[in-house]
Amino acid sequence: MSCWGTRLIRCPLRPDIVTEPHPLLLPLVEAVFTLGLEPAEDDAFYGEIDGSPALLKLLDADPLAILLGVVVEREAVGEQSVDDLADAFEEMGERATVDVDDGMAWFSFYDLDGWSGDQIGALATHAAEQVRAAGLATGPGCRMCNVEAGQGEEDAVVHYLEGRVARLCPACIRLVVEDRVAAEEHANRAHAGHRLVFPAVVVGCMVAWGVLLYVRLVYASLYPLVDWGLGGVAGGGIGWVAGRNLRGTGLAKMGQVPTAVVATLAVGAGGNLAMFLFALWWNFGVFSFELAFMFLKANFAQFGSDYAFLNLFQAIGFGIGCAIGSERRQVALEL
Ligand SMILES: [Zn+2]
Repeated sequence: MSCWGTRLIRCPLRPDIVTEPHPLLLPLVEAVFTLGLEPAEDDAFYGEIDGSPALLKLLDADPLAILLGVVVEREAVGEQSVDDLADAFEEMGERATVDVDDGMAWFSFYDLDGWSGDQIGALATHAAEQVRAAGLATGPGCRMCNVEAGQGEEDAVVHYLEGRVARLCPACIRLVVEDRVAAEEHANRAHAGHRLVFPAVVVGCMVAWGVLLYVRLVYASLYPLVDWGLGGVAGGGIGWVAGRNLRGTGLAKMGQVPTAVVATLAVGAGGNLAMFLFALWWNFGVFSFELAFMFLKANFAQFGSDYAFLNLFQAIGFGIGCAIGSERRQVALEL
């Protein structure tokens, strides 16, 4: 695991682990301490720089390159203010880039070898100061309710949440998390349409499994690579369709893996029966469940492991496709 702590002073996941930082990263470590930043995740720190919530990330260790994100007031962002930020770092040439996106001003600084910790800290502070000078800095209060530190019942402080930084009071954090839970519930709610087509999807997937199995059974020995590819990719495609439907019906609530296992077993069993139905109809124009079941029993014993192996490829593809397709929709935190 790439853990900041293996190179820096302490690991955010295991604060008890204290190690010597890599010599190449020493200046950055010093800068992080000078700026008073907290560990956010691997190779990233957050805190306040010149009063603005900020995120500092390691881009590259050799030569040292960093990414600094400073929260900006979205409404204040205009072409002129962005140009002003870029102008402030003109003398660094291609070693500095500025981009304002999604409520953050992003500064990338490259080729910082030979820079001291103080210099890097000053560079980050200078960037935050430029954000303020350009009129983009956010106010000192909670981003959502504007309660300032010391003024409300609870203080607004800078938080790191899923890759973003924001100054929020505890009440608003609870609200943001609750909103996200509600939004995810809404995004993943069951749909009547999916339930309506569910039987058709089940039968369709079984037929697709059967036809795919038949095609592979006929051509497997001729073109092994085609067989492998077909089994995995086409099986995955069928599984994905099944997964999407299962998510839409609300049946995937038990989790991706159990959903995929149950669906693979059910569709696989039905698919094998469908294959013999298809083979009988295709070759002899006969459509009989009874006959298909007899053939299935007889052939399973006869083909043995070869036959099971054919199913295995499809099952793996189907299972993976189904797990991906049934994945719950994620909703990002509204910050
Ligand atoms: Zn608030």
